[in-house]
Amino acid sequence: MPHVIVQNCCNDASCVPECPVDCIHPTPDEPDYATAEMLYIDPDVCIDCGACIDACPVSAITTDYELTAEMAPFETMNADYYEAVGSAADRDHPFTDPRIGRKRPSSDAETLRVAVVGAGAAGHYVVSELQHRIDVRATIDVYERLPETGGLVRFGVAPDHADTKKVQEQFAKSRKQSGVTTHLGVRVGEDVTHEDLARSHHAVVYAVGSLHGRELGLPGADLPGVTAAADFVAWYNGHPDFAGRTVDLSHERVVVLGNGNVALDVARILTADPETFTGTDMTDEALAALRDSRVREVVILARRGPEHAAFTAPELVGLARTVPVVVEPGDLSASGSAGEPTDEQARFYRAQKLALLQSLPADAGPDGRRVVLRFGTPPTAITASDGALTVAFDDHGAPSELACGAVLPSIGLRGTSVPGVPYDEGTGTIPNADGRVLGPDGAALPGVYVAGWCKRGPTGVIGTNRYDARGTVDALIADFHAGLLSAPSAS
Ligand code: NAP
Repeated sequence: MPHVIVQNCCNDASCVPECPVDCIHPTPDEPDYATAEMLYIDPDVCIDCGACIDACPVSAITTDYELTAEMAPFETMNADYYEAVGSAADRDHPFTDPRIGRKRPSSDAETLRVAVVGAGAAGHYVVSELQHRIDVRATIDVYERLPETGGLVRFGVAPDHADTKKVQEQFAKSRKQSGVTTHLGVRVGEDVTHEDLARSHHAVVYAVGSLHGRELGLPGADLPGVTAAADFVAWYNGHPDFAGRTVDLSHERVVVLGNGNVALDVARILTADPETFTGTDMTDEALAALRDSRVREVVILARRGPEHAAFTAPELVGLARTVPVVVEPGDLSASGSAGEPTDEQARFYRAQKLALLQSLPADAGPDGRRVVLRFGTPPTAITASDGALTVAFDDHGAPSELACGAVLPSIGLRGTSVPGVPYDEGTGTIPNADGRVLGPDGAALPGVYVAGWCKRGPTGVIGTNRYDARGTVDALIADFHAGLLSAPSAS
């Protein structure tokens, strides 16, 4: 009975080294890992030992005989992946543990002191990678501006994705280990400066994430009633910066612009039974607003065709089991314009998404709630009149419009700048080479590093940050061993 990876796979690959038959792919050292929507178990190679189940931090692995009806599509998705890219038995990329081949430091070796700014997933994985490296002894100070840890795992992951949020238990275990001190409610750049941290540590690693939505830049984007989906997410999850925000839920329709996973999250939150969220991280204020909501339809407008859909297949499956999802107009092939991708994994994802879209129902459920996916419909302007908004868009060359009560642009996220640290407004990231922060002259600033979304931009899922952090920690430790980091001059 093979095992199956299901929707909430976090891609952190904790399961990979535990598998005695190397049947979980892509592994972090395989090229297709960086763009993998999830990891997959090859049913023909799995020996049903269960080691992966114990290792998974988010309970995303189950046996095929324990699959619920809701999880059933994932059995096919795991098998289809190997059908498309080739059997796990033929892969020759064994996962390598970075501890292998490294020497422990001598007992009189200097202890590396690191400040990590940000206690979300990226910050956690920096801490965890430093703890797992046997060639240094490190003490770590974690600085978090909020009164609680977790970053976007706490304030971005949807409240009904409780299993995904379990990864915070792993974060907490790391922080409890000796040598780690967490400083909550400390704003770097205000309460302490970058220079303060640099003086008291060998290295400072910025892992401050991407909290805010990207600017839409359309006429009407600043109208009341237009709220970045990222702000809406932070509000219903109780992020203190977003307390008191309101989104008008008094109309039957909400329009979401962009079709990434954040768009699917907000569409699900707006159309699901609000009682799903009782007892979750959702605030009482948001729960009350959803109970009073008159929203029945969320229309997701994507500027490109279904072949470019930014959502992942697991999240579309999750949305479609919560609320009817319909594609309008139903002819998906009419939107297809791009050439075939060259690599097998990309071809697999495209075919899988098109098949899922084609399998969706044609209409709303009995209570009229539904999510509508529209492709090839770039928005052109937003206008307001009589307490409602109108989104104008190009519908395959013809002007069209939709009336609604609220517009939620969900067009990606931008990084957070920190006073005293370089920041590229264009990319919304901290300029860097392999995690080494670059100064205005393009040279690496000694002792300053970056990890996570503020390093590479807001792509991938939670566990993608683990291997991103490994790259940064590799650079940091190499610089330490090369004598490039100044010893702390203050405690
Ligand atoms: P995203 O995946 O980058 O999607 C952005 C969407 O906005 C795309 O459809 C993009 O279309 C569109 N867009 C960009 N600029 C636009 C513009 N000016 N006008 C109209 N549309 C525009 O962003 P996201 O949804 O914010 O997600 C960020 C990351 O978080 C992703 O890696 C995502 O997978 C991850 N995430 C994961 C989960 C989960 O696994 N459950 C949940 C939430 C978020 P084009 O493709 O045409 O540019």
